[in-house]
Amino acid sequence: MSEFKTIRELREAQLPRATIDDIGKLSATNDTDEAAKIVAEATEEINRYLASFTPGPCPGCGAELGGIFGSFQWGICTGEGACARCEYPARGQHASKYLTGSFVLPYHPDLLAAYSGSPDFEESRQLERRISSE
Ligand SMILES: [Zn+2]
Repeated sequence: MSEFKTIRELREAQLPRATIDDIGKLSATNDTDEAAKIVAEATEEINRYLASFTPGPCPGCGAELGGIFGSFQWGICTGEGACARCEYPARGQHASKYLTGSFVLPYHPDLLAAYSGSPDFEESRQLERRISSE
């Protein structure tokens, strides 16, 4: 049995969706109704974007992904990568109308078609490595 969780186990765990509370709250620079409206709209848009991710450590193996000692490794595509320990996919750069940042969030398991523990996932990763080394 693998030390890493399968995508089925992760989906059954019903992990939380990331929200703006996981990355720091927006705050209005003044207390006008207009500022409050902008903050509310921005919060809603950012939370909609963040719902594709789950907060916290790597869902697959529990390793910390962010920070200097995090196990996140960059992939081929800008902003994309994975846990260096178990290859669970994550994103390290984020940009939207209201949000630009460099912080690592693992994808929510509900959005993944496959993950380690699955032979198909390992085959696709091997093919990706073969293609990138040619
Ligand atoms: Zn991991």
